[in-house]
Amino acid sequence: MKNLITPPLYKRGRVYLVGAGPGDPELLTLRAVRLLGQTDVIVYDHLVSRGILDFVAPDAERIYAGKRRNEHTMRQEQINLLLVKLAREGKHVVRLKGGDPFIFGRGGEEMEVLAEHGIDFEVVPGITAACGVSSYAGIPLTHRDHAQSCLFVTGHLKDGSANLDWEALVRARQTVVIYMGLNALADICHQLIAHGAPPSRPIAVVQHGTIATQQVLTGTLSDLAQRVAESGFTSPSLIIVGDVVKLHDSLAWFTPAVTCVKKTELAVSA
Ligand code: SAH
Repeated sequence: MKNLITPPLYKRGRVYLVGAGPGDPELLTLRAVRLLGQTDVIVYDHLVSRGILDFVAPDAERIYAGKRRNEHTMRQEQINLLLVKLAREGKHVVRLKGGDPFIFGRGGEEMEVLAEHGIDFEVVPGITAACGVSSYAGIPLTHRDHAQSCLFVTGHLKDGSANLDWEALVRARQTVVIYMGLNALADICHQLIAHGAPPSRPIAVVQHGTIATQQVLTGTLSDLAQRVAESGFTSPSLIIVGDVVKLHDSLAWFTPAVTCVKKTELAVSA
């Protein structure tokens, strides 16, 4: 009998802007894992870890968009137009970004271009570095005894300077989380002190948070920059400023070597 069901003339393309979280693949959302497993093509940034790419459908096309500091493999305009082109070809595209796509991730800019071109899209939030990295470092971002508010700021401005609203950043009883600030760390500490923060204010730098190479250094605005430089910390690293940093000594729970062994044991016994 003749098949009476008319096949669709074309598959409608769609872009999923997905947050990959800060590194540990187990911090992906269920929705992210499902979309990665079904996608036709994935366009991913340098912050997305290898363990996360294991969830991508084996036959999906993989496009690396770069975005390491000073090494923009693809310019932002090229990425925007690539997403439009792939969706117009009828593909389901996962645009995968580290952390949350709407926090210092240019997700908004990419979605604006899709909207202008009438492309369907969805946004899947991810755990942003401030939340994931602070959790794994044992530093609660708010605490009734120490901080009633929390600011997320970027330490890397377009012109290369760290020209921030210092008056707002030095207030007491708040936590300041600085993304992309590693290279400007000495200048940031200097500016905070110059704008009235006590030199003894606690500060932490967390390198490679939530993954096996995580390292945390804590100190004060007056001494930490030097020690971080001596330790050779590399990107990605997150800066946390405020009294909550003092809690790290008692709350640090993620000791990568031990925790990774435990996870392997779990996987084997499951
Ligand atoms: N959209 C991302 C942030 C992108 S900006 C998010 O929501 O997390 C990149 C900056 O995020 C890095 O320079 C670093 O400051 C921070 N970052 C991201 N992942 C990190 C990690 N695993 N450890 C420490 N810092 C991280």
